[in-house]
Amino acid sequence: MTQPTLIRRVALTLAAAGLPVLPLRAGKAPFGNCHQCANNACGGRPNMKTAGPCRCPGVCHAWAAATTDPHVLSSPPWTAAWRRAVCVAYHPGAAGVTVVDLDDAAAVTWARETLPATRTVETTRGEHWVYRGAMPSHNAVRPGVDIKSSMSYARWLGPGTGTMTALPDIVRALAVKEPPTVRRAPQAIAMPSWAAGDGVCPHRTPTYLDRGIAMAQQRITEARSAVHATVYRTFLAVLSTHGRCGCLTEAHIARLFTAAQAKGESPRHCTDAWTNARTALGM
Ligand SMILES: [Zn+2]
Ligand SMILES: [Zn+2]
Repeated sequence: MTQPTLIRRVALTLAAAGLPVLPLRAGKAPFGNCHQCANNACGGRPNMKTAGPCRCPGVCHAWAAATTDPHVLSSPPWTAAWRRAVCVAYHPGAAGVTVVDLDDAAAVTWARETLPATRTVETTRGEHWVYRGAMPSHNAVRPGVDIKSSMSYARWLGPGTGTMTALPDIVRALAVKEPPTVRRAPQAIAMPSWAAGDGVCPHRTPTYLDRGIAMAQQRITEARSAVHATVYRTFLAVLSTHGRCGCLTEAHIARLFTAAQAKGESPRHCTDAWTNARTALGM
């Protein structure tokens, strides 16, 4: 997709379907700000984190310029940009979707083992997994994985294949940073007991749960760097999937803690990370 006319036509079609689009220039980066908008001197656009009054007709402020308005998209400054564009990007958050951007084969393998299936789009070296629902964007949530949704842009590389599914908690959890270590409680460290759920397991079979725990153990065991963060994220993932139905037993939790301790995490850190993960999930 290198032909300017084609790029613009694709953009207009996407916009007509409700996807806010913007052109990307060589290097697959957004066009720079115009003179008035340089260094955000204009204050920025109303949809930016710090909302400003900018009504610049140019393709300024990256993702914040993305629009579905055919008049804007065909205006002289945008036409000039489309002429120099190398591809179309869109603002996933504004379209109500989240793109899990998997940069390489390893990231794709991880996603296939970990994330619920959804619509996928091939990229140069990896895949975009597109979920229904928006969330804050985060880069490098793990090696080769970015989350692009609100206040971000993603390249349009075609509609992809598969059925789009709802944004799962496990993806939301990826973006959650572990809070500072919880205050040290003076009592002895005990294996936390949270068997109490509502007793309704939405997760089908014990085998499913067992497999989930085994995958979580493996993820911890295979962590080559950032063990601390991996342990936390893995706990989050397990809790977000199995934490509310009451089918997680202390034996399951012990398996996870053992895997973490084999990687050098202290029992105290395991308990803290587990507690933090529950707090992050509002449990
Ligand atoms: Zn401008
Ligand atoms: Zn501006």
